[in-house]
Amino acid sequence: MATKKQTPKTTAAAAPGWKYEPALESTDHVRFEKRYGHFIDGKFTAAKSYFGAINPATEEQLAEFGQGSAAEVDTAVKSARRGYEKYWSKLPPSERAKYLYRIARLLQEHARELAILETMNGGKPIKESRDVDLPLAAAHFFYYAGWADKLQYAFGGAQVAPLGVAGQVIPWNFPLLMAAWKIAPALACGNTVVLKAAETTPLTAMKLAEIFQEADLPPGVVNFVNGDGRTGAALVNHPDINKVAFTGSTEVGRAIQKQLAGTGKRLTLELGGKGANIIFDDAALDQAIEGIITGIFFNQGHVCCAGSRLLVQESIHDEVVRRLTHRLSTLRVGNPLDKNTDVGAINSRAQLDKIEAYLGYGVEDGAVRHAAPCPLPGRGFFVAPTFFTGVAPAHRIAADEIFGPVLSVMTFRTPEEAVAKANATPYGLSAGIWTDKGSKLFAVASQLKAGVIWGNSFNRFDATSPFGGFKESGFGREGGRQGLLPYLEVRG
Ligand code: NAP
Ligand code: MG
Repeated sequence: MATKKQTPKTTAAAAPGWKYEPALESTDHVRFEKRYGHFIDGKFTAAKSYFGAINPATEEQLAEFGQGSAAEVDTAVKSARRGYEKYWSKLPPSERAKYLYRIARLLQEHARELAILETMNGGKPIKESRDVDLPLAAAHFFYYAGWADKLQYAFGGAQVAPLGVAGQVIPWNFPLLMAAWKIAPALACGNTVVLKAAETTPLTAMKLAEIFQEADLPPGVVNFVNGDGRTGAALVNHPDINKVAFTGSTEVGRAIQKQLAGTGKRLTLELGGKGANIIFDDAALDQAIEGIITGIFFNQGHVCCAGSRLLVQESIHDEVVRRLTHRLSTLRVGNPLDKNTDVGAINSRAQLDKIEAYLGYGVEDGAVRHAAPCPLPGRGFFVAPTFFTGVAPAHRIAADEIFGPVLSVMTFRTPEEAVAKANATPYGLSAGIWTDKGSKLFAVASQLKAGVIWGNSFNRFDATSPFGGFKESGFGREGGRQGLLPYLEVRG
């Protein structure tokens, strides 16, 4: 079916008020190599072949990274096994904790450089990598350092033991933070790690490897193999892995679950989402509008728990749309290294193509497109933040995870209808509820099938709070005491 031509509605006047001068974060002090192979046995090692990773805001190549072969994955797993047997399983837990504290402090010391590199490689606004990714990554190491010598108290006095070697595969939306989410609890529980970063965003993992060297982490305790999905497949299918932790698409997660069936390997999956952000007519609207914006435009919408389905009580629909249109017109889209940028670059050409396809499907299926009236840079992968009105639950933009800055606005009349619509998805990762009434908030929350539910806020994270999904959003929890469980054998 041909896409109907429809000019996006940009009814709000261009942003009123202040004009910003560019406020670029300088990059002259950041250091990285032109070529990285892998990080195995405490050392940077060469690879047989390499691929390039770019800055999605400029499309310029940043560095080359090893395309991990099955043999290179095997070397990394052997190193992790040695690291486990020789060092990590022999250390008293309080000594493991010291390493984790040291890593956390080094992350804080190097925070500025790491934030800049995360932005250069991933495309996310510097204010987010600086204020969210880096502090949270350090917080996860601090938090799990505290657990390392208290594991016997974590599960009602049950005896616990590490699993061995964990194979971890992470996506490109929060490269350093996802590495921290996975590595910190694994090490605290006494496991060693082989981790594969996403092929578009391997840079900060290499800097994290430098931090492990600086922290004097024993060789083999954490290993990084670079590469694409084939490397990830070689890692999760390696016979000497005891546990697989995967974050990424539901499609790949499902394939991994099939491959691992019957192998005895422990598995946790953190997959996609299509979060509902529910706005009741008694909500504080200015705060709710900010929550809607944060819910869908944080990190360009490359967020598994994004509030990508907005459910608005019918009586306030027009007012919410009016305010949203205005707020959209004030968003600054552009150079991610500019400290004023709200929405940065889409992570890759492939992801931009996918988002643009969905913008077309929205119109094709009959919804009305409202795009931010912002200029887009001439180079790099950018798209105007967009919301659709007149969306039906069956529309592709309402049903599928787009993983971009695209919001579907729908309505409901009663709390029962809000709950039914919010739960009408194969996913179950996140939801938000905006209301002035605490009793309504808790009553609705208790009926939502979502792992993470925010009340009068959205996209807030804390190392002490478990995160994870229901249904096709996966299983297992990361963060909090619950985040220990995937890395421990609990004995009676
Ligand atoms: P993906 O293919 O699932 O990638 C996630 C990670 O798994 C990456 O490191 C990837 O390597 C690796 N991988 C790919 N195929 C694998 C396999 N057969 N076995 C083991 N590992 C494998 O996701 P994507 O391609 O980056 O993005 C596709 C869609 O997934 C997105 O549009 C979004 O909807 C969803 N997604 C969700 C999350 C989330 O946090 N829930 C995160 C990212 C993406 P490569 O990087 O080399 O492909
Ligand atoms: Mg992929």
